[in-house]
Amino acid sequence: MTWYHEGMYDAGAPAGSFWEDDTPPLPPGVDLGPLTGDASCDVAVVGGGYTGLSAAFHLARDHQVDVRVLESGPLGWGASGRNGGFCTFPPTGLTLTQLLRRYGEGEARRFIASQVEAVELVRSLSLDEGIDLRPQGDGTLHVAHSPDRFRDLEEEAALLSGTFGLPVQLMRREEVAETEYDSTEQFGALLNRTGFGIQPLRFARGLAAAAARHGAKLHGSSKVSAWEKEGAAHRLVTASGTLRARRVVVATNGFTRGDLQKPLADRLVPVLSNIVVTRPLTGDERAAQGWRTERPCANTRRLLFYYRMLPDGRFLFGARGDLTGTLADGLRMRAVMERRLGEVFPHWRDVPTTHYWRGFVCMNARLTPAIGQMPDDSSVYFALAYHGDGVSAAPWAGRVIAQLLGGTASFRDIPAALRGIPPRIPFPALRRWYLGAALGYYRLRDN
Ligand SMILES: Cc1cc2nc3c(=O)[nH]c(=O)nc-3n(C[C@H](O)[C@H](O)[C@H](O)COP(=O)(O)OP(=O)(O)OC[C@H]3O[C@@H](n4cnc5c(N)ncnc54)[C@H](O)[C@@H]3O)c2cc1C
Repeated sequence: MTWYHEGMYDAGAPAGSFWEDDTPPLPPGVDLGPLTGDASCDVAVVGGGYTGLSAAFHLARDHQVDVRVLESGPLGWGASGRNGGFCTFPPTGLTLTQLLRRYGEGEARRFIASQVEAVELVRSLSLDEGIDLRPQGDGTLHVAHSPDRFRDLEEEAALLSGTFGLPVQLMRREEVAETEYDSTEQFGALLNRTGFGIQPLRFARGLAAAAARHGAKLHGSSKVSAWEKEGAAHRLVTASGTLRARRVVVATNGFTRGDLQKPLADRLVPVLSNIVVTRPLTGDERAAQGWRTERPCANTRRLLFYYRMLPDGRFLFGARGDLTGTLADGLRMRAVMERRLGEVFPHWRDVPTTHYWRGFVCMNARLTPAIGQMPDDSSVYFALAYHGDGVSAAPWAGRVIAQLLGGTASFRDIPAALRGIPPRIPFPALRRWYLGAALGYYRLRDN
């Protein structure tokens, strides 16, 4: 099961995000609503976020496969409809040096190249399918939160440009203050020209509409509550129907629970990420803080502050923390984030926030995403654990799953860092305590 509060999994409740107020509803006919009666298909996808929707879209468009998606809530209800909209990379908890040491230069390069391709996939999906994802900013900024951390950025810049051949630029503190923004925790930045910002729920709904247009059948409000095997076929049970399928894709990421897929769930660590958004800032307020940039920014803290100015002048500020998902801890987290926002951006100390929400990102012990087939059942595929960076990695992984199922790719085509099932976590029941210890350690290290 999971140690988080049940409310975190209540797909009948809105996420409470700003994006929900800023996104038109799905066109009629895209979400077919709850699965009813006994249906069958070739491929059933569990989870209607970027991974599941991209898998369904590519299966239907490129491979003419009969595919259905079952999603507990509205399509895009999970992390895909409520993230910060940073379309960037790499999706890993490893540093570039650790990545090189563990996988060697050739495989590390394959991994990074695949994730640059993932960012491009988001751009091309929006162009090809007319998805209005509101792109913003040319590149993303990784900002040193203390003078010491600028040295880490120098190392990162040398590897990104030298070993991986990517267009990056180191910027000293004064340069960042002059051209991007200033704050009490700005000590220089690394500009990575590959990423950009998006409106995440518009992307999720646009991807759903595109998948439906190409023939995928999408069912919101269709939580899979039981999963049985009947000979070689799978039978997925929801409150109002059953779906028989030859093959199943698990695309439930941080919302994966042990009651459905325990062997996989025991290898994952769901982690809460939180966001506050302010009311629109006036031009004078933005100028007071020297804010000039459209680029999404993340700082060098392990528990991350990530922040960006939205097109209507609202400021989005995100952080990790909270081990329970209870309402009380949510309120506490919101208060902490509002205080920290005011400390890092003192000119906005008194600006009220209008929205707070949170959701699960997903980690594992390997610290890289996982794409593969279940070792005990090769008709079950999975793609998950994007380590908080799934806006581009998840649609890309969904496409890989479609290529595997469609027979146009093999597992050898997947970079080693992403391939196969991650290791089981020792004593998975203790994950909450491991996470508590890790949060404590990173808090110390971040100061
Ligand atoms: C607050 C927050 C901020 C983030 N910010 C960023 C960011 O700026 N940039 C970035 O790259 N990444 C970010 N992420 C991570 C990113 O959103 C995810 O990696 C990505 O959306 C994962 O997509 P997914 O489709 O795999 O999972 P999800 O979008 O989480 O979808 C999984 C779905 O599975 C469904 N589900 C679970 N169990 C069942 C069941 N039994 N039956 C049916 N359906 C089920 C859930 O309802 C859910 O909708 C953020 C995440 C959060 C929570």
